[in-house]
Amino acid sequence: EYLTGHLPTHLKGLDAALFGGIPFGALTELVGPAGIGKTQFCLKISVLATLPSCYGGLDGHVIYIDVESKFSSRRLIEIGLNSFPEIFHLEGMAKEMAGRITVLRPGSLTEFTESLQKIKVSLLQHQVKLLVVDSMAALVSGEYEQGPPRQHPLGWHISFIKSLAEFSRIPVVMTNQVRSRSATEISNYSFQGERRDDCGNFDSHLVAALGIHWAHAVTIRLVLESRSGKRFIKVAKSPMSPPLSFPFKITSSGILL
Ligand code: ATP
Ligand code: MG
Repeated sequence: EYLTGHLPTHLKGLDAALFGGIPFGALTELVGPAGIGKTQFCLKISVLATLPSCYGGLDGHVIYIDVESKFSSRRLIEIGLNSFPEIFHLEGMAKEMAGRITVLRPGSLTEFTESLQKIKVSLLQHQVKLLVVDSMAALVSGEYEQGPPRQHPLGWHISFIKSLAEFSRIPVVMTNQVRSRSATEISNYSFQGERRDDCGNFDSHLVAALGIHWAHAVTIRLVLESRSGKRFIKVAKSPMSPPLSFPFKITSSGILL
């Protein structure tokens, strides 16, 4: 069993469904439309990974690959201050916690590849307890797309990231943006019970971007979506949980169930 240990999200229902939180040694994907809260989720778990263990954190460092320049240390500190005031209000603590998060901003697929190779070394040297890639899909769209489209432009990267997760035994969280309707389709499909063939029926837009290899590599898929003005997070793929859905809010403290 390689799924030993979890990063608790502090979202109670979700942690219960995942038997403790985001598993170590595996890939967890956050899928959802623009503005639903994928980056907010990543910021929250980054705070949690750096938090002392007596507060339910991992007391570690984080490597955050910020592909779309959406990481905000100001927002990170705001989440920390509002969620854990007793720690973040201590003299110099907000700076110390933010300093534990290394933000990488690869400007091309080539730089992303180089970042991954550097990370492999960092994982051995530092107390890295979380790797975030926000977002994966952005790497193969827009300015990142170079030359003629290939079938699986990120095939190597996906395998490499999966191997990083397995060998370092840390949680790896990656985001992917999909159109609103597609996110609903993904979760509706997953709710029909037939989850073995999840990948074959995966959102065509995402498959076009990341390939079927990606869909197979992911251990846990969380779908964030909006229904009648409320936000929901669904466990759409998991080896240990039934498909469950939880309403959530985004506040000054970050993402809350
Ligand atoms: P994209 O795919 O475009 O990157 P995303 O899923 O990452 O989108 P986020 O940036 O995580 O989306 O979420 C943006 C939402 O977070 C905004 O719509 C806003 O409602 C909410 N939000 C951001 N900051 C705050 C805050 N300080 N207080 C309350 N809500 C906030
Ligand atoms: Mg985002």
